[in-house]
Parts: sequence; C-alpha cells; structure tokens
Amino acid sequence: MANKLHVKKGDTVQVISGKDKGAKGAVIEAFPSEGRIRVEGVNILTKHKKPSQAMQQGGIVKTEGKIDASTVLLYCDACGKGVRTGVQINEDGSKVRVCKKCGKVLD
Ligand SMILES: [Zn+2]
Repeated sequence: MANKLHVKKGDTVQVISGKDKGAKGAVIEAFPSEGRIRVEGVNILTKHKKPSQAMQQGGIVKTEGKIDASTVLLYCDACGKGVRTGVQINEDGSKVRVCKKCGKVLD
C-alpha cells in the first residue's frame, strides 16, 4: 500500500539530516511506496559508464540517489529554511500545505 509522502515531485525541500544536511533542491522523483525521494543535487552517486552510442567517450555519470523522505522538510522561502507544514482547508474543500511558522501557503 502506498503511503502518502509529505513532499512530492517538483517541491523545493531542504535536507535536515545526513551527509547532505542543509542542502536545498527540487524533488526530482518521489517513491511513496518506499518512503523515499530523489532530490536535485543531493546524494550524488557517480557511475562509470562504458562508451555507448549515446555517449561515445564513456566516462563518469552523476546521478542523484534515493534518500529517505523523512530527512527532508518542505522549503519555505519566507522563512528561508525547511519547515514543518500544516494543512489548510479552503472554502471549496481543497487542501493546501502551509508553513507552520509563518502561515505561508506552500502549494
Ligand atoms: Zn514560513
């Protein structure tokens, strides 16, 4: 069963623990069933590629590895950091995420 993550593809997040602590980037991909995400510029893995049609020289390819979604917070540009979020329900019943610190709508 797929768990819903607190962040989704396209969100800007800040890493709060681990070797990339403090790094900020966009969520490239989310894996709700694993509770993991890939974030731009975070947990960079290097892979050595053999020469191929697409890449005639071969060489080193950098790719973002998955990280645990619990190690990131949604970034609030008003606060300038990763923040805890709450949910605000609009009059039309739609839900948006808001910064718990400053109340800014983050969706
Ligand atoms: Zn805020």
